[in-house]
Amino acid sequence: MSDTKIEQNAVARVHYTGTLPETGEVFDTSEGRDPLTYLVGHGQMIPGFEEEMMGATQGERREFTLEPERAYGHPIQELISELPKDQFAQLEESGVDIEVGMTLVAQTFQGPAPFIITAVEEETITADFNHAMAGKTLKFSVEVVDVRPATDEEINHGHAHGPGGVEH
Ligand code: ZN
Repeated sequence: MSDTKIEQNAVARVHYTGTLPETGEVFDTSEGRDPLTYLVGHGQMIPGFEEEMMGATQGERREFTLEPERAYGHPIQELISELPKDQFAQLEESGVDIEVGMTLVAQTFQGPAPFIITAVEEETITADFNHAMAGKTLKFSVEVVDVRPATDEEINHGHAHGPGGVEH
């Protein structure tokens, strides 16, 4: 057993399950997959997850609940836009029925931006670009698989290498 702690510039591998405390619905889990690997303290994880896991060592389990402020924030009105329906013409021609609740991905200069359709009117479609988890309180159950110090190269790159990390 390693006694390296989760701290700034460590590389942690964890198994986690995220649930919505109100309903108990699992919204994300690493169960049945490889553990999640992250370089600690480089903004790869939501702020509350980083904070709550600090100091944990191999084999340790932690459970915590995060208010939106420490998770994905609150929805922002500016990220909800009404788009002319003809922007979706190509998609509809290819046989896709645009429906409320559907998730689509827009190509932007910053890269792909997923959004959810929240209304379909005669002339317009309302697209919500807020994170799907914005405004939600999230509960996490986390188990530390292992922790090791990051290499200088990983710290320079801002991400982990090796198993579960970026391969390049
Ligand atoms: Zn790298």
